[in-house]
Amino acid sequence: MRAIQLTGIDQMEMTERPDPKIEKDNQVLLRVASIGVCGSDVHYYETGKIGSQVVQYPFVVGHECSAFVEEIGSAVKHLKPGDRVTVDPASFCLECDQCKAGRFHTCRNLTFLGCPGQAEGCLTDFIVMPGRSCYKIPDAMTLDQGALLEPLSIGYYAVKLSEPKPGEKIAILGAGPIGLSVMVCARPLGAAKIYVTDIRAYRAELAAGHGADWAANPEKVDIVEEIRRMEPNGLDTVYECAGQQETIDQAMRMLKPGGKLMLIGIPRSDRISFPIDQARRREVRIQNVRRQNECVEDAMKLVAERQADVDFMITHHFMFEETQKAFDLVEHYEDAVVKAMIHIAG
Ligand SMILES: [Zn+2]
Ligand SMILES: [Zn+2]
Repeated sequence: MRAIQLTGIDQMEMTERPDPKIEKDNQVLLRVASIGVCGSDVHYYETGKIGSQVVQYPFVVGHECSAFVEEIGSAVKHLKPGDRVTVDPASFCLECDQCKAGRFHTCRNLTFLGCPGQAEGCLTDFIVMPGRSCYKIPDAMTLDQGALLEPLSIGYYAVKLSEPKPGEKIAILGAGPIGLSVMVCARPLGAAKIYVTDIRAYRAELAAGHGADWAANPEKVDIVEEIRRMEPNGLDTVYECAGQQETIDQAMRMLKPGGKLMLIGIPRSDRISFPIDQARRREVRIQNVRRQNECVEDAMKLVAERQADVDFMITHHFMFEETQKAFDLVEHYEDAVVKAMIHIAG
């Protein structure tokens, strides 16, 4: 089969590899259909690492995909060859304390597609996954929407973890695919007022056109002052999706007493700080969000029932052979890119 592997900083190549095979009866063999390019894939491409996760070359990244079922192990009952599925990139053991507590996403033995040291990714013709990680998508859903369910379920999980109450006033700082996923899930989960900010004007505009009540570029507008003027009592929840010290500081100044700060963005530096006086006096609740846990079906339902529009996030399409072009585009935020989609089969 074909595989696109990273071979160095800003370098990749297409190679031939042996087709993977089902080795356990709970596994399925998948023909990959659409792949979304994630900021984390591009980060590995650009720098060779994320925190302590360092790429050993050559290495295949990619974890947001839809696929066709080619073959199923004898223990897989909910799928059949030909089914179209979305893939939860996580494989977990079901036996450790975390899995037993229902925290599959922090499984002690977790392997994640395209994560160095764990498993290679889905920028290939075929992958093998546990059947449990594959969810059949409805006939009316496109393969691109299927691939988008990966980031969308992260947005869904972030909102769910914040325990939203109907009528909440929220802000989302950073309008990349994850911030926009939070936005489109927050509305059906009860948000009444949604403020979105991004330093890239085109992303703030996109948010404003697809569900935000107000969106602005913090380099042009004093967003904290503006939001405080409109919401003098402060916000219920701020979803930090940029991973910047600056946005964390902004969030802290927007929240009401008892407000919630959800940390979703991945900071580039190893440490960040909080203005503890503000956080303490207002008893701000700070919650880290790690990917998602068991939210694929809920996110899928929102799309199937048209409660969440996601198509607008897909701004670019590429053939498999053009993968490097897609990565370069996303790396440099060119041509107003949000989500670049790579097409392998379908
Ligand atoms: Zn991703
Ligand atoms: Zn486990």
